[in-house]
Amino acid sequence: MSKKGKIKNGNNKAKHTKLLNQKKNKIRDEKMLNKQRLKALVVKSNLYKGFCPCGSNYTYAKCCAVAHNNISDITTSEQLMRSRYTAFVLNNIDYLMDSHHSSTRPIKEKDDILNWTKSVKWLRLEILNTSKITSGNHIETVEFKAYFEEDNKECLIHENSEFVIENNHWVYLGEVS
Ligand SMILES: [Zn+2]
Repeated sequence: MSKKGKIKNGNNKAKHTKLLNQKKNKIRDEKMLNKQRLKALVVKSNLYKGFCPCGSNYTYAKCCAVAHNNISDITTSEQLMRSRYTAFVLNNIDYLMDSHHSSTRPIKEKDDILNWTKSVKWLRLEILNTSKITSGNHIETVEFKAYFEEDNKECLIHENSEFVIENNHWVYLGEVS
């Protein structure tokens, strides 16, 4: 009885170690992938003469890459907004999904959004206004203009966007209605 128990425990232990290793390997692979992805984004961002595509006075590595690396590392809704613009510029579709509130996340349009943002030339971002959370209201807004070139024409998205906290970090909710 006790011997049997021991063997069983031994088997369980081996199983457990195997699972643990699988988990460790998975985390390592994900980290590597993340690093490679970020490297590719840094290379793309160099097209912007060293500055972050969002138009700040920082390099991409010190600006929107922080958000693209870990969305929980940014602390303001404006940073979230800027990082989403830069994600459009760098075709970082996964970040565009992750930074969207789960209730409004356009999962079905993911491929269309990616194809569209790849097809246009992003020109610049202007932040016009920001509002902070006031008591009883958990929404912050950022009004912006995003300029891009499509079919050789300069186009513009002018939006006042709403941002809320979900899973302890800022996300984009949608346009102010
Ligand atoms: Zn930036």
